[in-house]
Amino acid sequence: MDEKINTKKDTVKDKPAQNSSGRLVVDGYITIIAGPCAIESRAQLDGIAALIKESGLKYLRGGAYKPRTSPYSFQGLERKGLEYIKEIAEKYDLKAVTEVTDADKVDIVAEYVDVLQIGTRNMSNFALLKKVGKVVNEMKKSVILKRGWGSTIKEWLLAVEYITSQGHAEVVLCERGIRTFEPYTRFTLDLSAVPVIKKLSRLPIIIDPSHAVGQSDLVVPMSRAAIAVGADGLIVEVHTDPEKALCDGQQALNAHQTKEMLTQIEYIAKFFGRKIR
Ligand code: PEP
Ligand code: MN
Repeated sequence: MDEKINTKKDTVKDKPAQNSSGRLVVDGYITIIAGPCAIESRAQLDGIAALIKESGLKYLRGGAYKPRTSPYSFQGLERKGLEYIKEIAEKYDLKAVTEVTDADKVDIVAEYVDVLQIGTRNMSNFALLKKVGKVVNEMKKSVILKRGWGSTIKEWLLAVEYITSQGHAEVVLCERGIRTFEPYTRFTLDLSAVPVIKKLSRLPIIIDPSHAVGQSDLVVPMSRAAIAVGADGLIVEVHTDPEKALCDGQQALNAHQTKEMLTQIEYIAKFFGRKIR
């Protein structure tokens, strides 16, 4: 690395914005965020939240604004989706996680959820990064910054600094697969990013195996691998009826697969002295 990257010394671990109970990543724990790709209806999100709660997890994901590759695909319930995730997260005492796609939506999204996610398509949207940095710092929220699918680790760490330049919110990196010449999986999950990030930075890093592999049967083995390589958590797509999902159903874990994944990663986490939350 020829250019100085500050994240090693200047991170939330030095100046936490939240106490540890409000943090997404806590020492000694593996944080699992689970839920549908998109919020489709109140009933759909309620059923999935019930499954997540019953599984002992604390974080519910669900997209209200969906940045779809095709403009003809379902774009999300937008404001209504934010209302549903807030209502249902409160009902089950879960924390809500959703993606924010535009700088002009940051204030409204931050009113409804605990954790703001910046997606792969927006990693280099610097106006969005700065606005998110400002708002999460003021409102004591956490941010997940996904890696751009065509971005290097260095570019990703520099993108973090657009957020942290606005204050000391908790920033969690998320490796979600990069584009390579291999078409069998949706993207190629770069698990080596985990030890590299641990070497270069003190930021936590979680893995999104769902968008990386794009097929539900491959999500469980890659989740095991993510925990073994040292990731601090996972963000996983889960649906109670994946075949009817309006978005990314082919990669969503059903209830049975979710339980299987959790059982398996629990063994691996235990080996490293970590608990699942
Ligand atoms: C998502 O998590 O809903 C999503 C769109 O992911 P990504 O930005 O990694 O494609
Ligand atoms: Mn998705």
